[in-house]
Amino acid sequence: TVIAPTPLLPEVAAFLSKEHGLLIDGRSVPASDGGTFPVHNPATGELLAHVAAGTASDVDDAVAAARAALPVWNAMAPAARADLLWRLGDELERRADEFGQLETLDNGKPTGEAGGLDVPLCAQLFKYYAGWVTKIEGDTMAPSSGMAMHVYTRREPVGVVGAIIPWNFPLLMCGYKLGPALAAGCTMVLKPAEQTPLSALRLVELMHEIGFPAGVVNVVTGDGPGAGAPLSAHMDVDKITFTGENATGQKILEASKGNMKRLSLELGGKSPSLVFADADLDAAVEGTFGAVYFNQGQCCIAGARVFVQRDVYDRFVEGLAGKVASIRLGNGLAEGTTMGPVVSAEQRDRVNSLIASGVAQGAVPVVGGGTVQAPELADGYYVQPTLFTDVTTDMEIMRKEIFGPVGMVGVFDTEEEAVALANDTQFGLASGVWTTDVKRAHRVAAQIHAGVVWINTYGMFDVAIPYGGFKESGYGKELGREALEPYLQTKTVWVDLG
Ligand code: NAD
Repeated sequence: TVIAPTPLLPEVAAFLSKEHGLLIDGRSVPASDGGTFPVHNPATGELLAHVAAGTASDVDDAVAAARAALPVWNAMAPAARADLLWRLGDELERRADEFGQLETLDNGKPTGEAGGLDVPLCAQLFKYYAGWVTKIEGDTMAPSSGMAMHVYTRREPVGVVGAIIPWNFPLLMCGYKLGPALAAGCTMVLKPAEQTPLSALRLVELMHEIGFPAGVVNVVTGDGPGAGAPLSAHMDVDKITFTGENATGQKILEASKGNMKRLSLELGGKSPSLVFADADLDAAVEGTFGAVYFNQGQCCIAGARVFVQRDVYDRFVEGLAGKVASIRLGNGLAEGTTMGPVVSAEQRDRVNSLIASGVAQGAVPVVGGGTVQAPELADGYYVQPTLFTDVTTDMEIMRKEIFGPVGMVGVFDTEEEAVALANDTQFGLASGVWTTDVKRAHRVAAQIHAGVVWINTYGMFDVAIPYGGFKESGYGKELGREALEPYLQTKTVWVDLG
């Protein structure tokens, strides 16, 4: 049955009907060459908007605006800057429905998740970092030699930051970058993903309405080569913070060499979930289901490589397969939808071809394994939620990040084997361990090479808790106090007292 999607909120309809220019120095402007690109609703394939396609020359203008705004932003009293960030959080909370609906239209995720998780978490981020603005302080220290010098440190903003973000959590990723950068006193040029530029544009428009000074945050929409590449190579950008694919991360690493700009890279993952026979099996099934299928599986932390101890393997697979089979695929705006489309036709085709490779290489699809045939879903970018068993570690689906609703369950006998399987990847973003044995939980947590270990839970996030990867999943933490560090630099001041 096709369930009619919720009608558009008036404020969302009004926003969509506007011109979507670049936001540079507080104004909406067309791209230097007048170029635009179309943005589609992944649930229906319908055109949502035309958005300005920024060029290298637009990036120059945006960086110049951010540079000029740096002293303005830092001349404001810290308490006044904190107040602006707090008010932004408040406004976002108040407008959770508006931003939630816009995010669903642009990204496809169910509106309950967008408005109930993405938006409030983004709001909390701004409020959390509002608290840090007034608490950035240096140290005084005594020279070890005893010389008569007064020495102190100042914590200064690194300067102009370029933020390049992906499409899986379009609004939330803005908060991840903007919260700590603005708290540290930096200004920013933000490059949203070309698939999902709308919530970033609306967010920064709202920031201007609230009173953030012009140029503090600028948005250059556009694709990677056109807008992202010139930003990462720009000689007047002091730091790039990037979330996205490893191959793009490599390009940014290369492009940033010119002025040795600082880099934070949050890249891909292929995270393991380990389920031991002594686990609370119902909780493990429930938690693993979320770990794999939340957000249509488009999570960098997706714990999609699931390894289960032999004694409970059959019961676990039966439980998880039941949950996957009960997913209700549909338009994210329709009530009752538990999984929306993936973000784009390209992403749908990519995931479908990985599913086909799993089948071709001998994995057994206990749920799904094909393409979506329902006529009412034919225009959207839907993927069949799929669960594979009988997987081997050399299969393409076990090595590549899928970024879609596809889980793989393998089996293990010993703890040692489980740890080896968990670590058999070039990535090291996250992991899950399901066991009721306290000693085992901590023993295994210490041995997994990943930036996060969730024990008897998965995908927990909090604005105060740092998060980020090991190995090829990148470097530089996000969230918490630690996320401020890459946006600050320490200056040492010596004063002769003699
Ligand atoms: P992507 O790398 O294709 O795109 C990310 C951003 O980079 C987009 O804004 C894109 O326009 C831009 N870009 C593309 N080419 C560029 C270039 N040459 N120079 C500069 N910028 C360029 O990634 P995606 O497909 O949008 O996102 C999915 C990826 O993001 C997955 O690999 C996922 O694991 C990762 N991700 C990681 C985290 C994390 O915290 N580690 C979080 C979310 C997503």
